Amino acid sequence: NQLNIEGKVLKMKRVYLDHAATTYVLPEVLKEMEPYFTDVFGNASSLHSFGQEGAVAVAEAREKVAKVLGANSNEIYFTSCGTESNNWALRGIAYKKGKGHIITSQIEHPAILQTCADLEKKGFEVSYIGVNNNGIINLEELKKAIRPDTILISVMSANNEMGAIQPIEEIAKIAKENKIPFHTDAVQAIGAIKFNVKEMGIDMLSLSGHKFYGPKGIGVLYIRNGLGIAKFMTGGEQERNMRAGTTNTPLIVGLAKAITLAYENFDQKVEELAKKRDYLINRILTEIPYSSLNGDSKNRLPNNVNISYKFIEGESILMLLDFDGIAVSTGSACSSGSLKSSHVLLAMGTDIELAHSSVRMTLGEKTTYEDLDYTVDCLKKVIENLRNMSPLFAEFKGGITNV
Ligand code: PLP
Repeated sequence: NQLNIEGKVLKMKRVYLDHAATTYVLPEVLKEMEPYFTDVFGNASSLHSFGQEGAVAVAEAREKVAKVLGANSNEIYFTSCGTESNNWALRGIAYKKGKGHIITSQIEHPAILQTCADLEKKGFEVSYIGVNNNGIINLEELKKAIRPDTILISVMSANNEMGAIQPIEEIAKIAKENKIPFHTDAVQAIGAIKFNVKEMGIDMLSLSGHKFYGPKGIGVLYIRNGLGIAKFMTGGEQERNMRAGTTNTPLIVGLAKAITLAYENFDQKVEELAKKRDYLINRILTEIPYSSLNGDSKNRLPNNVNISYKFIEGESILMLLDFDGIAVSTGSACSSGSLKSSHVLLAMGTDIELAHSSVRMTLGEKTTYEDLDYTVDCLKKVIENLRNMSPLFAEFKGGITNV
């Protein structure tokens, strides 16, 4: 909300369309967590009853997460976030093997790409598989990349920028045929895709609480029994001596509640979300000229709308929409004074100018059609204003060419 001249708060409509960045915590989740901050605060590793009450809650939470993923509870390891889970999956295999070759995709989150870059510095080799124009991984390229010394394949379940859902089961099958462990970063996919790690042939899976209405600062790495990866955090003997650090009881309880809720009325929730997504996409594409959808229109996260608005920059759109109380995001990041294009859109073959002009809107459970109508109304004005100031647009229209 903004202040007027007299310092009074002006009520302004606010629309949050950045659920892929993070979500709020559901009241039911908060309620479930609360006692573990105050009454049941004992260290879950302590042998006294204060500790053991926490230990019981953590054991129950582990069961709940395992149930959702189709895993055994002793295959669920709690971490501090999705980034840590991804680091552990990659480094856990790499450090165990000591050397070898890793396959991943060009569109992974930095938590994978930067870890791979670090492992390359340590002597590991990494192949980065490309994607088609819709952002779906090229399976033939993946098959060709497999070598006798390939120690891991890691491909995300769904992309965080343009929402393309990857053919995880097919990749898992290829990995299995070649006796290579398969990891998937499912951080964006929880609550949008059903998982059964056993049936799907997934050996490791990362997820993060704050992407599905759970708390920030808590994640999970599922590790298939028998895979036996190296530990990554050393210290105490928590998490079956695989991940040290005092057990974060309240956040673990919260994550388990949130993931359980995420799969309640799953089909209905996903269907409603996808309807709203398509409504927003259709309105934008039909009402805003020179706009184009990024990512696959069908194999797409039910809440993801990523659109390029030719001739203008995504950052400018983001900032002007923020004045209207609308929160969105861009794939590109302003770094060291130069605009860096989204590595995801570039991997899809999107030209640099269009990649710069992309904006991601990610819907949530509370997003209404009224929110979407307000967003489109504001967006139309923002785009028109920015294009009126855009030298690229003027040039395209045959006006000024050298501003
Ligand atoms: N992987 C993907 C696909 C993500 O979208 C994110 C967060 O945006 C992460 C990993 C990192 O998760 P966290 O914020 O829990 O570290």
